[in-house]
Amino acid sequence: MEEAVISKNFIEQIIDKDLEEGKVTKIVTRFPPEPNGYLHIGHAKSILLNYGLAEKYKGRFNLRFDDTNPTKEKTEFVDSIVKDVEWLGADFKGEIFFASNYFEQMYEGAVKLIKKGKAYVCDLSADEIREYRGTLTEPGKDSPYRNRSIEENLELFEAMKNGEFPDGSKVLRAKIDMSSPNINMRDPVIYRIARMTHHNTGDKWCIYPMYDFAHPIEDAIEGVTHSICTLEFEDHRPLYDWVVRELEYENPPKQIEFAKLYLTNVITGKRYIKQLVEKGIVDGWDDPRLVTIAALRRRGFTPEALKKFMELIGVSKSQASVDYAYLEYVIREDLKTKVPRVMAVLDPVKLVIDNYPEGETEYFDIENNPDTEDAGTRKVSFSRELYIEREDFMEEPPKKYFRLFPGNEVRLKGAYFVKCTGFEKDENGNVTVIHCTYDPETRSGSGFEGRKVKGTIHWVNAADAYNCTVRLYENLVDEEKGKLNEDGSINFNPNSLTVIDNAKVEAGLKEAKPGESFQFIRNGYFTVDSKDSSEGNPVFNRIVSLKSSYKPGV
Ligand code: ATP
Ligand code: MG
Repeated sequence: MEEAVISKNFIEQIIDKDLEEGKVTKIVTRFPPEPNGYLHIGHAKSILLNYGLAEKYKGRFNLRFDDTNPTKEKTEFVDSIVKDVEWLGADFKGEIFFASNYFEQMYEGAVKLIKKGKAYVCDLSADEIREYRGTLTEPGKDSPYRNRSIEENLELFEAMKNGEFPDGSKVLRAKIDMSSPNINMRDPVIYRIARMTHHNTGDKWCIYPMYDFAHPIEDAIEGVTHSICTLEFEDHRPLYDWVVRELEYENPPKQIEFAKLYLTNVITGKRYIKQLVEKGIVDGWDDPRLVTIAALRRRGFTPEALKKFMELIGVSKSQASVDYAYLEYVIREDLKTKVPRVMAVLDPVKLVIDNYPEGETEYFDIENNPDTEDAGTRKVSFSRELYIEREDFMEEPPKKYFRLFPGNEVRLKGAYFVKCTGFEKDENGNVTVIHCTYDPETRSGSGFEGRKVKGTIHWVNAADAYNCTVRLYENLVDEEKGKLNEDGSINFNPNSLTVIDNAKVEAGLKEAKPGESFQFIRNGYFTVDSKDSSEGNPVFNRIVSLKSSYKPGV
């Protein structure tokens, strides 16, 4: 077979060129999350992209917490992020970096800028700074403090650090160009005074660096060669370059931007997820209907499927939304050969085989996965009373209905042919029991060729079926109806969760462990919930249904 030629993405092309020209020798990338919430699928894209490049070029991948803003950051989030990155398989070699560990170097960097006449302490208020900044069409005005002497600036900056001024009374600004067409270059604030306890450095500092100043320094200190971020930072790149140039780093990192990943019919923004969590509309940050990494894990997605998905959608510079159905397609493909196929009846109705000996039990060897060579078989018990899906029987079937109806014969998956002989109803007209007879000659594996049937249905043995809870999910929001209501609240789908509490599944599934996944024949892929299951009492979440009309690559 011909080997597929996969064209390189634009970032790989840049790296190739840098290597060729000898600008870099070893590739270093990083994922720099701010620990202010749980990671979502967009972050997974960034993690897998950065890690993937380091792996491909035999370089290094750093996990670095961008913890320069103490107000919103929490250790809880640090822990969840580490867990998610590990789960995705992005190997950071056990070493975790914190931007806050570089506060000292950042301070020295600021002093260096002052000494070069490239930074000054400014007493304008936040509002005044905004006013002086100008607009997209008008240049800004110089601050009256712009021409303070180097000595005065050094003294004032040190006094800022020593806590001699109240919060917000002074800032340190880079001295660049108040008439630059790029507003980010109009003397941006690089340090502010804020008395806040930091999760890592405690009360050691009362001045904190701003993101645009801190980030390039963090990258440079770690020897990052390619600092990959999302498009909204494109306009900040001149400032990034200015910082590494003025601080005279020998091998300055290079910033490269790519488009964020957005998915249809799901909620990604942290703000909205928080709203759903706080109002109790979802069951925490890892509710399986969300697309946080924790939720995807709980829902039964695999790291391999997410990796494959990211490869398929690729990286680009233009913004677009990816259909959630594409992600579903990928997880289905991933699980197809990996997980066993078992029988589970989600909407059970009794099937009685009147001519099967009462009290007898036999066992069938049923294949675990016909698409996987060495998946083996398992024993499934069978007796006179079974459960089948309610929709697999009809009193008056339409044309082309090949399942059970009076007088019709079907195959019970892996067992016998049965022929429907009658049924019982309750006072409300609901079918309660279906009667049939079986033909012992049709036993699966016996080579019976006497006649054919058009339908095969699945079943479980009523005598030992495990009665359990199964949860089905739909999208939380419907894009076509609008994600948000007029008041800004989320227009969520009231049918996003269906709880079935009397599903009947094969007895062996009672021992299934959290995180274990299965295909329930004809019903979809399911995983054992990690939160609501207990030993011997697994609860199943549907990962994805079996089919969709979605065709990838169109
Ligand atoms: P959010 O606004 O969703 O919280 P963020 O950008 O504020 O995201 P950070 O913790 O600052 O979150 O991001 C860490 C890294 O993840 C950054 O490099 C950022 O560019 C990247 N990232 C964030 N969202 C996405 C996305 N949707 N697609 C790809 N990368 C993303
Ligand atoms: Mg952020």
